[in-house]
Amino acid sequence: MALILLAALAMAQEYRFPAGDAHYGAFYPTAYKDHGGSTDWGCGGITYSGHNGSDFGFGSWSGMDEGREIVAAAEGTVVAVNDGEYDRCSTGDCGGGGGFGNYVKIAHADGRSTYYAHLKQWTVAVAVGQYVGCGTHLGYGGSSGNSTGPHVHFEVRESSGSASDPFDGSCSAPPTYWLDQGAYGGLPGGSCQNAGPCTVVATLSCGQTISSANNTGGATQSHSLYGCGEWPTSGPEIAYSFSTPIDEPVTLGLTGMGGDIDLFVLGSAACDGSGAITCSTNSEASEEWLAFNATANVTYTLVVDGYDGIASGFNLSASCVGTVGDPDPEPGDSGGESVPDPRPTTAPSSPVPGRRTPFAEVGCGAGAGDSGAGGDGGAPGTRVPLDEVGAGLLLLALWRRSRPRT
Ligand SMILES: [Zn+2]
Repeated sequence: MALILLAALAMAQEYRFPAGDAHYGAFYPTAYKDHGGSTDWGCGGITYSGHNGSDFGFGSWSGMDEGREIVAAAEGTVVAVNDGEYDRCSTGDCGGGGGFGNYVKIAHADGRSTYYAHLKQWTVAVAVGQYVGCGTHLGYGGSSGNSTGPHVHFEVRESSGSASDPFDGSCSAPPTYWLDQGAYGGLPGGSCQNAGPCTVVATLSCGQTISSANNTGGATQSHSLYGCGEWPTSGPEIAYSFSTPIDEPVTLGLTGMGGDIDLFVLGSAACDGSGAITCSTNSEASEEWLAFNATANVTYTLVVDGYDGIASGFNLSASCVGTVGDPDPEPGDSGGESVPDPRPTTAPSSPVPGRRTPFAEVGCGAGAGDSGAGGDGGAPGTRVPLDEVGAGLLLLALWRRSRPRT
């Protein structure tokens, strides 16, 4: 029993804010869960009687028309969806989807489930049975079901079916379910939970090619933060170790893919966003190539990660120059592993047009793979809470009069 309990505790999933990164700043809380007497988690009154979820508005009808992306707060399996309901409800009683209108329900490994409700009509982008990573696109915010204006209703249910408040405060029981719940009146953080070190399944050596898939044995779907930018729409990932006995330039190739999967080189298996060496994340590219200068006897971690849930077979190869100070040349060794460079002569040396811009470029060495935008040096996913310097309070005051509910 103790082991089971410990396992359950270890597996408890923490949530990111369920809005897409491009629209994160457009959201603001309009109604928290009611703890009785219209009292919210912070003992304030940003709620209404009987409200079971957390409502976040996003800028009225024009915001809805522009599109406000809703994403999975944590990885899990889609267990219910509803779509097709009228989505400009302002009366609070339009019905459909049990009052949730167009919605998605995700079941998580820790037994809890999360609801994303009142979505825009015909924007639900996932299907029942689909496994989604943290940050996976679910749809767009709307005002379907029993809603009075555009917002998302985010609700956490225990395995028993009872609703829990993800916020921890003086009038709510701990723990918080958010990875970073933020300030009262502000927004929880937009970073996904990191699930511990990457699981290394095999070792790739100089001159070797591994043919595998990013959803085969040993693959996980719990990481989206490698340090070259967080992939809010990550997919399954599989990791390998790599090292050489000498300092030498190394070229890695990822080829033979049938979908958009990307390659990351990390200085360790921590997979926590630190220690990134370089990465190659071209959109829709059928090949990824990158080069870096390996240091003798350092164990690097190579992660192959699918974009937006994509799984694919691939060939991962390492080509080493092997001529830089080989300390122990073998008889007949003409200077290390003289593996032919398999790269096409037209291998892209700069990002291709249309490549995705990572959410936040962090600590990624200057390499062949990535030189994207960003570079503000901030921690990935950290953002100024909405309520800082009172901005949020002003917004709240403006929205109190007609804040969307249900
Ligand atoms: Zn609500």
